[in-house]
Amino acid sequence: MPEARRLFFAMALPKPLQQQVITWRAESFAADAGRPVAAANLHMTLAFLGEISEQKASVLADIASRIQSPAFSMQLDDLGHWPRPGVVWLGSRRAPTALLQLASLLRSHAARNGCHQSTLPFHPHISLLRGATQPLALPASTPQWTLTVADFGLYESRFHQGRTRYQCLHSWPLVSSPPSPC
Ligand code: ATP
Ligand code: MG
Repeated sequence: MPEARRLFFAMALPKPLQQQVITWRAESFAADAGRPVAAANLHMTLAFLGEISEQKASVLADIASRIQSPAFSMQLDDLGHWPRPGVVWLGSRRAPTALLQLASLLRSHAARNGCHQSTLPFHPHISLLRGATQPLALPASTPQWTLTVADFGLYESRFHQGRTRYQCLHSWPLVSSPPSPC
């Protein structure tokens, strides 16, 4: 039987923003606050698919390739701590409608194809620290970063030699709005 792979739809952070985030994170959190997520692993999950077959992955990739959803920008201006899963995250006080609609579309296609979706409301976030199960002091504010999102991808997550790595299997462009006539 072909092997199942652990897949999810997500948006990546551009490299310069990854570097800005990890520099700020190193200055803003105590070393024992949690395990820093590697720069290359910083991402925002849109829909988690779980361990799925090649056949299901190919159906979902085909659906994703036909999505016509607008590109968008968002402010990364929110910060929080979920002690139970032990995650410190970066998010947005006002998630753009385009992001919520894209995630909702992907999650509903995932559910229709048998990928269990959490019943918790979708809370778009970028995990910064993991294993952060103890109370901690969050910095009072975050730098005002803007994340511009022009594409999204299907990622594989692999745990190997004690490290989680993600590989982008496919990515698809979001639709840019035409320049307004002057
Ligand atoms: P690790 O679990 O190895 O510490 P990770 O959580 O980043 O690292 P995965 O568990 O493979 O790696 O998850 C990949 C992405 O999917 C992450 O953004 C994770 O938060 C998200 N994710 C994992 N499990 C679920 C789930 N049950 N529901 C929703 N999102 C999930
Ligand atoms: Mg996990």
